[in-house]
Amino acid sequence: MASEELVRHEIEINQNKKLIVTVSWCKSCGICMELCPRDVLGEEEVTKKVILIATEQCNGCGLCELSCPDYVFTIGELESVLNKGQ
Ligand code: SF4
Ligand code: SF4
Repeated sequence: MASEELVRHEIEINQNKKLIVTVSWCKSCGICMELCPRDVLGEEEVTKKVILIATEQCNGCGLCELSCPDYVFTIGELESVLNKGQ
């Protein structure tokens, strides 16, 4: 199988907190978009994968991380989130 480049975005929620969104893992189920209380998340027109439409509105509530069955979202203290990938 050909390896594709991982598409990943980051939202700085505040000085210490960060949300990482690994779009490549999204299966377009739409759960996170329904649950996000701040309308941060939307769907891409063609693929229906998650997109970030209002990053400045994210309050770091963590609902997206809890609800996504495909582990697209990782939220936490900046230091520990960065270390997860090591
Ligand atoms: S952390 Fe909360 S506000 Fe931010 S994108 Fe996820 S569900 Fe929406
Ligand atoms: S819950 Fe996860 S898999 Fe479903 S649309 Fe959102 S990011 Fe994609």
